Amino acid sequence: MLIFHMYKISVNKELFKDIQFKKTHLLEKETSKYWKKELLEPKIENDKIKYSIKQIDKLIITNGLHQDNPQLTIECEKVDYSFKKDIFEFHLGKILEQKNTDLEENYKDALIEELLREKAELEDTMYRDHLTNVYNRRKMENDLNLFINQNNSNLLCAIFVDADRFKGINDNFGHDAGDRALVYLGQKLQKHAKLLNGEVYRYGGEEFIILCFLHKGELISKLNDLRTDIKLQRIHHKIRDISITVSMGVAFYSEAKNKDEMIKKADNGVYKAKNNGRDRIEFG
Ligand code: GH3
Ligand code: MG
Ligand code: MG
Repeated sequence: MLIFHMYKISVNKELFKDIQFKKTHLLEKETSKYWKKELLEPKIENDKIKYSIKQIDKLIITNGLHQDNPQLTIECEKVDYSFKKDIFEFHLGKILEQKNTDLEENYKDALIEELLREKAELEDTMYRDHLTNVYNRRKMENDLNLFINQNNSNLLCAIFVDADRFKGINDNFGHDAGDRALVYLGQKLQKHAKLLNGEVYRYGGEEFIILCFLHKGELISKLNDLRTDIKLQRIHHKIRDISITVSMGVAFYSEAKNKDEMIKKADNGVYKAKNNGRDRIEFG
């Protein structure tokens, strides 16, 4: 047979709020004759009296004992008795029910807000590249599906960015320097993606993609700014400062059959740029 033990404890307003908003998970109650009688169960073992602590399933926490006063029903995970402090310690779990708390609605709102924030944080880690902190390919696929259905999809274009002779950077300066160069590239691309009215994603390795919404006429001069910005700044290294260039391929959604073809075309642009000497922009 299951026996549910439930007790009512009245606490002051501050503590009530702390429990309600989960700022405290431990409720301390000074012992009194009443509580000792209720919670300490004497047992005779080898002619000695030993006490075991009665466990409780639920607690009703009130702020005053009047019927209309706020009240929480809360799980009690464990009851402890501290001989040192002569207090009972109730380890509190989930809130099961709330009554008369005018904060009831606020509490729900706060809880929902917290859940949404956690979800956003989780999504952010799911959608970001660990090394460069720019969005990853998964996010790109998601965004692309949204972007092609927006009413400005006629302005959508993809810019494939591939670092030139990146293997050489790893070989000459070490893999760590290569990583730093990728972080540097990520930052530059992020800064310029904003100016291009778009977002940047790490596609893989030393390859990035910018998806943006911009009129063709404005695009090339802005991409040339990006290209020279990357080239002119050096990445500090103890052997000698590293300079890096990129090749870019551009494709417009309005000139492709679908999103995959747009990406393929942009990749093709990179291929052309490499063949034409690197550090340049070509249409796919
Ligand atoms: P190209 O100008 O033709 O693009 O030459 P490349 O050397 O950039 O191209 P390739 O595809 O031959 O080499 C890409 C290199 O990028 C090889 C790989 O080791 C390096 N790479 C890819 N991902 C990372 C990374 O996360 N960190 C570092 N340090 N290097 C990476
Ligand atoms: Mg590559
Ligand atoms: Mg490359």
